[in-house]
Amino acid sequence: MQGTQAGAWPVVGHQWAVDLLRPLAQSGGSGPRHAYLILGAPQSGKSTLARAFGTALLCTDPERRPCGRCRSCQLMAKTGHPDFWLIQPTDKDGVVDRANGLLRGEAASSIVRDAMLRPVEGKYKYVLIQDAQRANDTFANKLLKTLEEAPAHVVLCLTASDRAELLPTIVSRCQVLELRPLPIELIAEALESPGAASHAQADLLARLSNGRFGWAMAQLQSKGGQQQRQEDLHSLWQLARASRVERLAFSQSLSGNRENERLFGLLALWTGWWRDVLLAQAGCLDACNNIDHQAEIERDAQSFLPADVHSFLYTLRRIEGYLHHTVNTTLALDVLLLQLPRPLTSR
Ligand SMILES: [Zn+2]
Repeated sequence: MQGTQAGAWPVVGHQWAVDLLRPLAQSGGSGPRHAYLILGAPQSGKSTLARAFGTALLCTDPERRPCGRCRSCQLMAKTGHPDFWLIQPTDKDGVVDRANGLLRGEAASSIVRDAMLRPVEGKYKYVLIQDAQRANDTFANKLLKTLEEAPAHVVLCLTASDRAELLPTIVSRCQVLELRPLPIELIAEALESPGAASHAQADLLARLSNGRFGWAMAQLQSKGGQQQRQEDLHSLWQLARASRVERLAFSQSLSGNRENERLFGLLALWTGWWRDVLLAQAGCLDACNNIDHQAEIERDAQSFLPADVHSFLYTLRRIEGYLHHTVNTTLALDVLLLQLPRPLTSR
Protein backbone atom coordinates (compact mmCIF):
# COMPACT_ATOMS: atom_id res chain seq x y z
CA MET A 1 0.00 0.00 0.00
CA GLN A 2 1.33 3.42 -0.97
CA GLY A 3 0.49 4.89 2.44
CA THR A 4 2.78 2.58 4.35
CA GLN A 5 5.66 2.69 1.92
CA ALA A 6 6.91 5.62 3.97
CA GLY A 7 8.78 3.19 6.24
CA ALA A 8 7.83 3.81 9.83
CA TRP A 9 6.13 7.11 9.05
CA PRO A 10 2.49 6.53 9.96
CA VAL A 11 1.22 8.74 7.16
CA VAL A 12 -1.30 7.76 4.47
CA GLY A 13 -0.29 9.25 1.11
CA HIS A 14 1.60 12.58 0.80
CA GLN A 15 4.63 10.51 -0.16
CA TRP A 16 6.46 13.50 -1.70
CA ALA A 17 6.24 15.36 1.64
CA VAL A 18 7.55 12.37 3.58
CA ASP A 19 10.40 12.00 1.07
CA LEU A 20 11.25 15.66 1.56
CA LEU A 21 11.20 15.60 5.38
CA ARG A 22 12.67 12.18 6.10
CA PRO A 23 16.32 12.93 5.17
CA LEU A 24 16.28 16.00 7.44
CA ALA A 25 15.79 13.79 10.48
CA GLN A 26 18.49 11.24 9.62
CA SER A 27 21.77 11.39 11.49
CA GLY A 28 24.54 12.93 9.41
CA GLY A 29 22.01 14.80 7.26
CA SER A 30 21.85 18.53 6.72
CA GLY A 31 19.32 18.90 9.55
CA PRO A 32 16.00 20.71 9.52
CA ARG A 33 15.27 24.37 8.88
CA HIS A 34 13.87 26.59 11.61
CA ALA A 35 10.27 26.51 10.55
CA TYR A 36 7.82 24.56 8.40
CA LEU A 37 4.29 25.38 7.41
CA ILE A 38 2.03 22.51 6.38
CA LEU A 39 -1.05 23.69 4.48
CA GLY A 40 -4.09 21.63 3.55
CA ALA A 41 -7.85 21.22 3.96
CA PRO A 42 -9.15 20.31 7.45
CA GLN A 43 -8.50 16.64 8.31
CA SER A 44 -6.24 16.14 5.29
CA GLY A 45 -3.32 14.78 7.32
CA LYS A 46 -1.39 17.94 8.25
CA SER A 47 -1.00 17.18 11.96
CA THR A 48 -0.29 13.50 11.34
CA LEU A 49 2.57 14.47 9.04
CA ALA A 50 3.80 17.15 11.46
CA ARG A 51 3.79 14.69 14.37
CA ALA A 52 5.62 12.07 12.33
CA PHE A 53 8.28 14.64 11.43
CA GLY A 54 8.63 15.64 15.10
CA THR A 55 8.90 12.01 16.16
CA ALA A 56 11.61 11.42 13.55
CA LEU A 57 13.57 14.52 14.63
CA LEU A 58 13.51 13.52 18.29
CA CYS A 59 14.15 9.80 17.66
CA THR A 60 17.54 8.57 18.85
CA ASP A 61 17.88 5.49 16.65
CA PRO A 62 21.05 5.79 14.51
CA GLU A 63 19.50 4.03 11.50
CA ARG A 64 15.80 4.49 11.06
CA ARG A 65 13.87 7.52 12.30
CA PRO A 66 11.32 7.28 13.74
CA CYS A 67 12.12 3.78 14.98
CA GLY A 68 9.02 3.43 17.13
CA ARG A 69 11.05 1.66 19.82
CA CYS A 70 13.39 4.14 21.49
CA ARG A 71 12.45 6.04 24.64
CA SER A 72 11.89 9.19 22.57
CA CYS A 73 9.49 7.53 20.13
CA GLN A 74 7.56 6.00 22.99
CA LEU A 75 7.29 9.33 24.79
CA MET A 76 6.05 10.95 21.55
CA ALA A 77 3.42 8.26 21.12
CA LYS A 78 2.03 9.34 24.50
CA THR A 79 2.51 13.11 23.74
CA GLY A 80 4.67 13.27 26.83
CA HIS A 81 8.06 14.15 25.35
CA PRO A 82 9.71 17.02 27.25
CA ASP A 83 11.09 18.50 24.00
CA PHE A 84 7.78 18.37 22.16
CA TRP A 85 5.28 21.21 22.47
CA LEU A 86 1.79 21.09 21.04
CA ILE A 87 0.12 24.51 20.82
CA GLN A 88 -3.59 24.56 19.97
CA PRO A 89 -6.30 27.26 19.88
CA THR A 90 -8.10 27.63 23.20
CA ASP A 91 -11.13 29.43 24.59
CA LYS A 92 -10.76 32.22 27.16
CA ASP A 93 -10.40 29.68 29.99
CA GLY A 94 -7.55 27.87 28.26
CA VAL A 95 -9.64 24.88 27.14
CA VAL A 96 -8.66 23.54 23.69
CA ASP A 97 -11.22 24.65 21.09
CA ARG A 98 -9.98 24.11 17.55
CA ALA A 99 -13.20 25.27 15.89
CA ASN A 100 -13.73 28.62 17.62
CA GLY A 101 -10.73 29.16 19.92
CA LEU A 102 -7.69 31.36 19.40
CA LEU A 103 -3.93 31.03 19.67
CA ARG A 104 -3.32 33.59 22.39
CA GLY A 105 -0.38 35.75 23.40
CA GLU A 106 0.26 33.79 26.60
CA ALA A 107 0.96 30.61 24.62
CA ALA A 108 3.44 32.49 22.41
CA SER A 109 5.18 33.95 25.48
CA SER A 110 5.80 30.48 26.85
CA ILE A 111 7.21 29.32 23.48
CA VAL A 112 9.62 32.27 23.49
CA ARG A 113 10.70 31.58 27.09
CA ASP A 114 11.11 27.84 26.55
CA ALA A 115 12.88 28.20 23.20
CA MET A 116 15.88 29.77 24.92
CA LEU A 117 16.46 26.70 27.11
CA ARG A 118 18.45 23.73 25.87
CA PRO A 119 16.54 20.56 24.87
CA VAL A 120 16.03 18.19 27.79
CA GLU A 121 16.57 14.86 26.02
CA GLY A 122 18.09 15.29 22.58
CA LYS A 123 19.17 17.65 19.89
CA TYR A 124 15.98 19.58 19.16
CA LYS A 125 12.97 21.24 20.67
CA TYR A 126 9.99 20.66 18.39
CA VAL A 127 6.99 22.97 18.57
CA LEU A 128 3.82 22.02 16.66
CA ILE A 129 1.40 24.92 16.30
CA GLN A 130 -1.97 23.73 15.01
CA ASP A 131 -4.42 25.99 13.17
CA ALA A 132 -1.99 28.89 12.83
CA GLN A 133 -4.74 30.88 11.08
CA ARG A 134 -6.41 31.22 14.48
CA ALA A 135 -3.54 33.27 15.95
CA ASN A 136 -4.50 36.59 17.54
CA ASP A 137 -2.28 39.62 16.85
CA THR A 138 -0.17 39.19 19.99
CA PHE A 139 0.49 35.53 19.20
CA ALA A 140 1.36 36.29 15.58
CA ASN A 141 3.79 39.05 16.54
CA LYS A 142 5.53 36.99 19.20
CA LEU A 143 5.70 34.03 16.85
CA LEU A 144 7.33 36.25 14.27
CA LYS A 145 9.93 37.29 16.83
CA THR A 146 10.62 33.63 17.66
CA LEU A 147 11.00 32.84 13.94
CA GLU A 148 13.58 35.61 13.66
CA GLU A 149 15.56 34.92 16.80
CA ALA A 150 15.10 31.25 17.69
CA PRO A 151 18.25 29.32 18.61
CA ALA A 152 19.38 26.54 16.27
CA HIS A 153 17.88 23.76 18.38
CA VAL A 154 14.29 25.00 17.91
CA VAL A 155 12.16 23.60 15.07
CA LEU A 156 8.70 25.06 14.60
CA CYS A 157 6.00 23.37 12.54
CA LEU A 158 2.81 25.28 11.82
CA THR A 159 -0.34 23.85 10.29
CA ALA A 160 -3.07 25.90 8.63
CA SER A 161 -5.85 25.41 6.11
CA ASP A 162 -5.22 28.52 4.02
CA ARG A 163 -2.08 30.57 3.51
CA ALA A 164 -4.19 33.67 2.74
CA GLU A 165 -5.26 33.77 6.40
CA LEU A 166 -1.68 34.01 7.70
CA LEU A 167 0.62 37.03 7.92
CA PRO A 168 2.80 37.00 4.78
CA THR A 169 5.82 37.68 7.00
CA ILE A 170 5.16 34.38 8.84
CA VAL A 171 4.67 32.39 5.63
CA SER A 172 7.87 33.77 4.12
CA ARG A 173 9.93 32.55 7.08
CA CYS A 174 8.72 28.96 6.74
CA GLN A 175 9.33 26.20 4.27
CA VAL A 176 5.83 25.59 2.93
CA LEU A 177 4.44 22.11 2.24
CA GLU A 178 1.02 22.17 0.63
CA LEU A 179 -0.87 18.88 0.96
CA ARG A 180 -3.10 17.99 -1.94
CA PRO A 181 -6.24 15.82 -1.86
CA LEU A 182 -5.44 12.10 -2.01
CA PRO A 183 -6.83 9.78 -4.72
CA ILE A 184 -10.11 8.01 -3.79
CA GLU A 185 -8.54 4.56 -4.34
CA LEU A 186 -5.68 5.28 -1.91
CA ILE A 187 -8.06 6.37 0.85
CA ALA A 188 -10.40 3.41 0.26
CA GLU A 189 -7.50 0.98 0.39
CA ALA A 190 -6.16 2.50 3.62
CA LEU A 191 -9.60 2.37 5.26
CA GLU A 192 -10.12 -1.23 4.23
CA SER A 193 -6.66 -2.59 5.02
CA PRO A 194 -6.83 -3.01 8.81
CA GLY A 195 -10.20 -4.71 8.29
CA ALA A 196 -11.85 -1.65 9.80
CA ALA A 197 -14.21 -0.97 6.91
CA SER A 198 -16.05 -3.18 4.43
CA HIS A 199 -15.26 -2.64 0.74
CA ALA A 200 -18.53 -0.77 0.11
CA GLN A 201 -18.15 1.38 3.23
CA ALA A 202 -14.53 2.25 2.40
CA ASP A 203 -15.47 3.15 -1.19
CA LEU A 204 -18.34 5.40 -0.05
CA LEU A 205 -16.33 7.22 2.64
CA ALA A 206 -13.35 7.68 0.30
CA ARG A 207 -15.64 9.23 -2.32
CA LEU A 208 -17.28 11.54 0.23
CA SER A 209 -13.96 12.59 1.79
CA ASN A 210 -12.82 15.03 -0.93
CA GLY A 211 -9.39 13.46 -0.69
CA ARG A 212 -9.06 13.85 3.09
CA PHE A 213 -8.02 10.63 4.80
CA GLY A 214 -8.45 12.09 8.29
CA TRP A 215 -12.05 12.98 7.55
CA ALA A 216 -12.82 9.50 6.20
CA MET A 217 -11.20 7.85 9.21
CA ALA A 218 -13.08 10.08 11.65
CA GLN A 219 -16.37 9.21 9.93
CA LEU A 220 -15.55 5.53 10.11
CA GLN A 221 -14.84 5.74 13.83
CA SER A 222 -17.69 8.10 14.68
CA LYS A 223 -20.81 6.41 16.00
CA GLY A 224 -23.24 9.07 14.83
CA GLY A 225 -21.46 10.32 11.68
CA GLN A 226 -23.23 8.20 9.10
CA GLN A 227 -26.58 8.52 10.87
CA GLN A 228 -26.17 12.31 10.80
CA ARG A 229 -25.39 12.20 7.08
CA GLN A 230 -28.57 10.25 6.33
CA GLU A 231 -30.64 12.73 8.38
CA ASP A 232 -28.98 15.71 6.66
CA LEU A 233 -29.64 14.25 3.20
CA HIS A 234 -33.30 13.60 4.03
CA SER A 235 -33.72 17.13 5.35
CA LEU A 236 -32.09 18.54 2.19
CA TRP A 237 -34.48 16.57 -0.05
CA GLN A 238 -37.43 17.88 1.96
CA LEU A 239 -36.15 21.46 1.99
CA ALA A 240 -35.82 21.51 -1.79
CA ARG A 241 -39.54 20.69 -1.90
CA ALA A 242 -40.57 22.95 0.99
CA SER A 243 -42.29 26.36 1.01
CA ARG A 244 -40.45 29.66 1.56
CA VAL A 245 -41.71 29.80 5.14
CA GLU A 246 -40.36 26.33 5.92
CA ARG A 247 -37.03 27.16 4.29
CA LEU A 248 -36.65 30.33 6.34
CA ALA A 249 -37.57 28.47 9.53
CA PHE A 250 -34.75 26.02 8.76
CA SER A 251 -32.35 28.90 8.14
CA GLN A 252 -33.29 30.36 11.54
CA SER A 253 -32.64 27.07 13.33
CA LEU A 254 -29.32 26.68 11.54
CA SER A 255 -28.06 30.19 12.24
CA GLY A 256 -28.86 29.71 15.93
CA ASN A 257 -26.26 26.94 15.86
CA ARG A 258 -22.91 28.60 16.51
CA GLU A 259 -20.88 25.46 15.91
CA ASN A 260 -18.92 26.36 12.80
CA GLU A 261 -17.81 22.83 12.19
CA ARG A 262 -21.40 21.56 11.98
CA LEU A 263 -22.50 24.41 9.71
CA PHE A 264 -19.62 24.02 7.26
CA GLY A 265 -19.97 20.23 7.36
CA LEU A 266 -23.60 20.59 6.33
CA LEU A 267 -22.76 23.01 3.50
CA ALA A 268 -20.09 20.59 2.26
CA LEU A 269 -22.69 17.81 2.22
CA TRP A 270 -25.07 20.03 0.23
CA THR A 271 -22.32 20.90 -2.24
CA GLY A 272 -21.53 17.20 -2.65
CA TRP A 273 -25.17 16.37 -3.26
CA TRP A 274 -25.88 19.02 -5.89
CA ARG A 275 -22.58 18.26 -7.61
CA ASP A 276 -23.76 14.64 -7.93
CA VAL A 277 -27.13 15.79 -9.31
CA LEU A 278 -25.36 17.93 -11.90
CA LEU A 279 -23.07 15.03 -12.85
CA ALA A 280 -26.08 12.74 -13.28
CA GLN A 281 -27.75 15.37 -15.46
CA ALA A 282 -24.61 15.37 -17.59
CA GLY A 283 -24.85 11.57 -17.90
CA CYS A 284 -21.93 10.88 -15.53
CA LEU A 285 -23.66 8.88 -12.80
CA ASP A 286 -20.49 6.79 -12.35
CA ALA A 287 -18.57 9.82 -11.13
CA CYS A 288 -21.05 10.53 -8.31
CA ASN A 289 -19.91 10.34 -4.68
CA ASN A 290 -23.16 9.54 -2.85
CA ILE A 291 -23.19 6.10 -4.43
CA ASP A 292 -25.50 4.66 -1.76
CA HIS A 293 -28.28 7.02 -2.99
CA GLN A 294 -28.18 6.56 -6.75
CA ALA A 295 -31.95 6.35 -7.04
CA GLU A 296 -32.39 9.71 -5.27
CA ILE A 297 -29.64 11.29 -7.40
CA GLU A 298 -31.47 10.15 -10.55
CA ARG A 299 -34.78 11.36 -9.11
CA ASP A 300 -33.36 14.84 -8.41
CA ALA A 301 -31.59 14.92 -11.77
CA GLN A 302 -35.08 14.62 -13.32
CA SER A 303 -36.79 16.99 -10.86
CA PHE A 304 -34.56 20.06 -11.14
CA LEU A 305 -33.30 22.18 -14.01
CA PRO A 306 -29.52 21.86 -14.55
CA ALA A 307 -29.28 25.67 -14.76
CA ASP A 308 -30.88 25.99 -11.30
CA VAL A 309 -28.57 23.37 -9.81
CA HIS A 310 -25.57 25.04 -11.37
CA SER A 311 -26.55 28.46 -10.08
CA PHE A 312 -27.22 27.07 -6.58
CA LEU A 313 -23.75 25.48 -6.46
CA TYR A 314 -22.33 28.89 -7.32
CA THR A 315 -24.41 30.55 -4.55
CA LEU A 316 -23.31 27.87 -2.06
CA ARG A 317 -19.69 28.59 -2.79
CA ARG A 318 -20.18 32.35 -2.50
CA ILE A 319 -22.14 32.13 0.77
CA GLU A 320 -19.63 29.69 2.25
CA GLY A 321 -16.82 32.18 1.62
CA TYR A 322 -18.97 34.94 3.10
CA LEU A 323 -19.73 32.90 6.25
CA HIS A 324 -16.02 32.55 6.97
CA HIS A 325 -15.79 36.32 7.38
CA THR A 326 -19.13 37.49 8.67
CA VAL A 327 -21.12 37.61 11.86
CA ASN A 328 -24.42 37.96 10.06
CA THR A 329 -25.00 34.24 9.63
CA THR A 330 -28.80 34.61 9.52
CA LEU A 331 -28.85 36.86 6.46
CA ALA A 332 -26.38 34.70 4.56
CA LEU A 333 -28.32 31.51 5.33
CA ASP A 334 -31.68 33.12 4.43
CA VAL A 335 -30.29 34.00 0.99
CA LEU A 336 -28.92 30.48 0.59
CA LEU A 337 -32.14 28.73 1.57
CA LEU A 338 -34.29 30.90 -0.68
CA GLN A 339 -32.04 30.05 -3.62
CA LEU A 340 -32.33 26.29 -3.18
CA PRO A 341 -33.56 24.89 -6.50
CA ARG A 342 -37.32 24.24 -6.83
CA PRO A 343 -38.55 21.06 -8.49
CA LEU A 344 -40.13 21.50 -11.94
CA THR A 345 -43.46 20.14 -10.70
CA SER A 346 -43.96 22.91 -8.13
CA ARG A 347 -43.55 25.80 -10.59
ZN1 LIG B 1 12.96 6.21 17.93
